[in-house]
Order: sequence, then C-alpha cells, then structure tokens
Amino acid sequence: MADVVVIGGGILGACTALHLREAGAGEVVLLERAGALGSETTAAGAGFVGYWAGELEAELAAYGMEFYARLQAESGDDLGVRRNGLLFPAISEAGQAMLQQEYERELSFAPEVELVDADAACVLAPILARATIHGGLFQPGAHQVDTRRVMAALARRLASAGVDVRCGTAADRVGIEGGRVVAVETGHGAIPTGIAINAAGAGAESLARRNGLRLGAVPLLESRFVTAPLADVGEAHPMLLFFERDLLYARPQSGGLLIGAIERSIGAHDRVPLDRPPPPAASLPQHALEGHERLARACADLMPVLADFRVADRASGLPTWTPDGRHILGAAPGIDGYFALAGDNESCVTHGPGLARLAAELVVHGSTEADIAAYRVGRFDDLSDAELQRAAEGQYLARHPPEDGSAPTPFGIEL
Ligand SMILES: Cc1cc2nc3c(=O)[nH]c(=O)nc-3n(C[C@H](O)[C@H](O)[C@H](O)COP(=O)(O)OP(=O)(O)OC[C@H]3O[C@@H](n4cnc5c(N)ncnc54)[C@H](O)[C@@H]3O)c2cc1C
Repeated sequence: MADVVVIGGGILGACTALHLREAGAGEVVLLERAGALGSETTAAGAGFVGYWAGELEAELAAYGMEFYARLQAESGDDLGVRRNGLLFPAISEAGQAMLQQEYERELSFAPEVELVDADAACVLAPILARATIHGGLFQPGAHQVDTRRVMAALARRLASAGVDVRCGTAADRVGIEGGRVVAVETGHGAIPTGIAINAAGAGAESLARRNGLRLGAVPLLESRFVTAPLADVGEAHPMLLFFERDLLYARPQSGGLLIGAIERSIGAHDRVPLDRPPPPAASLPQHALEGHERLARACADLMPVLADFRVADRASGLPTWTPDGRHILGAAPGIDGYFALAGDNESCVTHGPGLARLAAELVVHGSTEADIAAYRVGRFDDLSDAELQRAAEGQYLARHPPEDGSAPTPFGIEL
C-alpha cells in the first residue's frame, strides 16, 4: 500500500517524489521502467538552466537554479552545477536587431538580462571569433548542470528521504474503480494506492490513453553530443546559443564542448506513436546527431575551436511538446486521484524542480499558491491526433527565428 505512486523516474518524477516525501505525503513509491533513474531523456538533457519564457516559468527557472545549487552543496560532490551565464551571440546586424526585441521581451520576466556589444560579447565568451560577432544578449544568472550527475545525487537523496524507488518496474496502467484511483498495475503486481502521478516523460501520453485520457504531450527526437577536450575552453565559459544557426548551443563539459541544435524540419523518424510506449533512448535514430555534428563543423567560423574535434559522447531523448508550448500539470478530469505532470517542451531540466514542487503542493494541499490554470489537464481534448501532432511540431519549429526579422522566441513559448 502506498500513499502516492509516482510513475517515471526522470527529473520530473524523481523531483516530484522527493518534494512529496518532504511535504509529508507519507509512503511514496517511485516507479521507473529503465534500470536506473534519469537514464532516458533527462540523461540527454543539455543542462542549460535559463530564462526561456513568461513570469510563471521564470519563477520555476529561479527555483530550479536554487534547487540544483543546494543539491550540489548538500551532496558534497561536483554535480557540474555552475552559474556560468548564457550568451545569445548575434552574427548579423539583423540578428542584433532581433536580440533588441528579445531583450525587451525578456525584461518582463528575466530578473537579469543585458544587451551587449560585440567587444563585450567576446570578452565574456573568448572562444568566439570577434570578426563574426555583432553583439549579444546575456543572462548572467543562468546555470549549467550535468544532468547525469544530478540524477545520481537525486537517487541518493531519495533513498535517504525514504522514498521506495523501484527501477526496472514499468507501470502498465492505473487501476480505477468507481471513478477513483485504487492501484497502479505493474508486471510485478498491483500497488494499491489512492493517488497516481503520471510523470512518464515520452511514455506519459500512451500511459494516459490506457485509462481513456489524452494529455497532449507529443514526443519528438532531440540529440546532442560532447567533444573530446579542446584547448581554450575554460570551465567557467558562458553557455552559448546561436539562434541564427538552427539554435546551435554549446557549453563547457569535461574539457570539451557539449553541443546540440534543432532540426529544420520534422520527419517520420523524429516521431513516435502516441498510443504505444516509446522506444528506449538508446535505440533512437542517429540522423539528428549526424546533422548537428556537420552543423558544428560548419560553425568553425564562429568558434575556431570547432575546426577540428572528435566526438566523445552522444545522447538522444524524446522531449514532449504541447500544442500551446505550456506544460501539463494537474488533476485528470473525471478520475479522482489521477494527476499528470508532462509536456516538458524541452525545458524541464530548467522547470522540472519547480514543477515538482507545485505537483507536491497540489497533491498534499489540494491547491497551489501559483496560478497553474494554463497547465490544465484535458485542454487539448478537442484536437484530433493529427491536429495535436501538427500543433506540437509547430511549437518545436517556432524556435527558428521568423524570416520577417521579428523577435525570435527561444524555446518557442509566446506568452
Ligand atoms: C538533446 C536534449 C537537450 C536538452 N536540453 C535541455 C536544456 O538544456 N535545458 C532544459 O531545461 N531541458 C533540456 N532538455 C529537455 C529535458 O531533458 C526534459 O525536459 C526533461 O529531461 C524531461 O524529464 P522527464 O522526467 O519528463 O522525462 P524522462 O527523463 O524521459 O523521464 C521519464 C521516465 O519515465 C520512465 N517511464 C516511461 N514509461 C514508464 C512506465 N510506464 N512506467 C514506469 N516508468 C516509465 C522512462 O523510462 C523515463 O526514465 C533537453 C532534452 C534533450 C533530449
């Protein structure tokens, strides 16, 4: 018998289980299909923790930064948590004009944001080739984290907090009787409980559908790689994000650079079915990785260190996109005790700890201090699967700056 069963041991589920336990939720069981916590999309997460969107999300981001810094301090280990700052370099005059608009947009939610000229950008980020840079936008408070080390520390933290973590155990469906949750069914038997939280990442949609629910969390492939150590990449170098080059991003990692980007178009090999459990991350296709490596080599004009590099590590995952770019958090309509936390919009290394805190508040107190109406479960019920897929892909692609030169919206959220 558990008071709460959390399904999915990525950053969202693991943080939710911890916050529940700390909020006095009682016996908390955390189920993870894979052999270890955080080994799917979270392990691929590039670890940029910045301010991407509106006011609520800025609060979530600020909490995320504080949470990771505290986790590192309390663990006594180096979890790769660093306040390196995040620079968006402009590589054209039109790009700098777009950053001016983005700066005005970010002023309404980011606590600190600065527009810098080309010289200042290159002082902040010495790996940039000065001749190619026209300026930049800088978030000095942004953090980077190493998601794998963070998840290892979280696993230890969950154990010492008394959360019953069961890896290698997939939830098959949530047992429901008389409109109430009564159990979570697994291949190892049913776990009786009155509360189930679906935080199954790319598996959240298909799991929900087994109980007749539709969330609107559409998984799409995303990949990144790490180069072997490179000369001149300091550990404290700011994270970089080139919105004019397919959102190519780079940050220091293990003496080299962790690099990724977004795709220009989405094809069949980037999608997974909505009504079946997703494939494990290790078996995802490689085409995006190959494209990002080619793009990185073509960016040696911007970062000369990329003229010659070897790839030391590759990873892919399946972030889930929602039709409106907002997360999904709340009680499922019509099923007492069923909660969903999904639709990460590729920003839940940043927003995950804050969302988890809200999820725990909701379960333990029945409400949250923050207004999370925009995250309501069931808000896409009127969309067909084809409409859902199309709108979610639109959010993914919206991160490319519009050709008309209006402000880019990194991470696709227009609030
Ligand atoms: C290449 C890449 C770069 C990214 N960069 C960033 C970034 O810089 N900043 C940022 O904020 N975000 C980033 N993200 C997004 C971020 O990684 C995700 O938002 C976050 O990891 C999602 O966490 P999750 O817990 O929902 O998913 P996951 O980590 O996938 O966790 C869900 C877990 O549920 C388990 N599961 C599934 N079905 C079941 C079941 N039936 N029963 C039990 N367990 C189940 C899975 O095995 C999995 O471990 C990036 C993602 C990728 C792929």
